Amino acid sequence: MTRSSILILGSIGLDTIQTQYSERSELLGGSATYAAIAAGLFSPVHLVGIVGTDFPEPAHKLLLKYTANSKDLIIEEGLTFRWGGRYHKNGDNRDTLFTELGVFSDFDPILSDENRKIKWVFLANIHPSLQIDVLDQCVDDPFVVTDTMNLWIRTTPTELNEIISRTNILLINESELREYTGINEVRAGAKKILLMGPEKVVVKLGGKGAICIDQDQEVKTGVYPVHKVLDPTGAGDVFGGGFISGLSEGLPIIDAMRRGTALASFCIEDFGVSMLDNITKDDIDHRIFELEN
Ligand code: AMP
Repeated sequence: MTRSSILILGSIGLDTIQTQYSERSELLGGSATYAAIAAGLFSPVHLVGIVGTDFPEPAHKLLLKYTANSKDLIIEEGLTFRWGGRYHKNGDNRDTLFTELGVFSDFDPILSDENRKIKWVFLANIHPSLQIDVLDQCVDDPFVVTDTMNLWIRTTPTELNEIISRTNILLINESELREYTGINEVRAGAKKILLMGPEKVVVKLGGKGAICIDQDQEVKTGVYPVHKVLDPTGAGDVFGGGFISGLSEGLPIIDAMRRGTALASFCIEDFGVSMLDNITKDDIDHRIFELEN
């Protein structure tokens, strides 16, 4: 099969994470990192992002292992993006301890000619102006999957509205959906977003799986029951990377969602991206088969 390339924009950084079990610092993280590794297990990933000259060589190597094209991955004098988070005991909620944009604060992505023509675009969580900037440079009317976070709902609603209106499929979690739409009920909230332009909205329901809603129907997947969630960071980004790789292969929505869900189950079993870097296609298939409905 000829695999379609996927353009992925998002944060690439170093995370410091505290959970009830342990604490780790300077782990390779970032929304684009998680998404690129998940998608890169299946598809040629073209990465758009920036790191500082302090970005560790092993992290860079690991990222390149899952990236087919890194022409638009810039290394610039300065500090890499850093984020710190502390999870509550329930594992679902977390507090952001710090966000240091570093070289991301002045990032002005200029896509290479090759990357402008890519048909599948995943706008992982990052400032919506950057998402708009990249999408403005895409010339071949790409299929766009977009992710976001509560920060942008609160701080940059106008830009967020614009990028959502230009998105084919929006990924959003339950609490973000409530905050963004002001509607408590998931289906009603998703329908409000459909009026803005997207064909579909995928609501990530955490331990309850994910549901995809469009004007006519909805499809739902459960999760793979993970015994101990060591670090939930990046699960949504991994879902997104797996999901768009499935779509780009022509899989039905439900199978693309199941791929994303199975991949996310590996992600949360260890800190950072370590589990994802140690799985095989058979491991993934096995989990897809074992997913709850
Ligand atoms: P998730 O757990 O899916 O929300 O994604 C976690 C990843 O998002 C971490 O690896 C962080 O480095 C990254 N992240 C946290 N805050 C931001 C932000 N404001 N913009 C972009 N990426 C972020």
